[in-house]
Amino acid sequence: MDVDHQKNVVFEEITLARSTEPKCKQCRREGEKLFLKGEKCFTDKCAIERRSYPPGQHGQKKGRLSDYGGQLREKQKVRRIYGILERQFRNIYKQADSRKGITGDTLLKLLESRLDNVAYHMGFGSSRTEARQIVNHNCILVNGKRVNIPSYIVKSGDVIEVSKNSKDQLRIKSAIDSASNRNFPSWIEVNTKEMKGIFKEQPDRSELPATINESLVVELYSK
Ligand code: SF4
Repeated sequence: MDVDHQKNVVFEEITLARSTEPKCKQCRREGEKLFLKGEKCFTDKCAIERRSYPPGQHGQKKGRLSDYGGQLREKQKVRRIYGILERQFRNIYKQADSRKGITGDTLLKLLESRLDNVAYHMGFGSSRTEARQIVNHNCILVNGKRVNIPSYIVKSGDVIEVSKNSKDQLRIKSAIDSASNRNFPSWIEVNTKEMKGIFKEQPDRSELPATINESLVVELYSK
């Protein structure tokens, strides 16, 4: 990796840690839709539909990434999709690595089982960021108890619902309407009227985005 590229990666680590980089720029940097902005991502206003090359002066220059550069890029992409800071992400990786099974699969399953992610898939937030705010603001119950920790790991059979006081929030209603029009993933069951869902089981790898190459993340952290 050349020095400029190395600097870019370090800069990105810093900006991502503060989550200051505009979301559409993050998708353009990765060259694909990461679905970070809710409804806009499903319209032709999506920045990737218009300009799929990376942002910046040299964005349109084509360069081949080294193996290490590719591993770093993939790790950044996964972190961006789930909106997780480096330290947290590494901790989740360590957990995945210490469990039985294929580390990359387990990593994705743990990420998918986070409460903010499950709330997003159930349509309680239009994006993972919004779902995280909704969890932070005490709007979500797990098995009838308030849980305001976005990283809480949901287990098979857990019931996730919008709290009674939050059911009138327009942003939640609108997010549920949009999600129900796009169908819910098979590993959750959602009752949109009651704003409630069951996390049936962790998803199979085949049900998760094929564009993620988790083995590159494993290669990076195994060094
Ligand atoms: Fe990414 Fe969504 Fe912006 Fe499109 S609209 S570039 S998918 S954040």
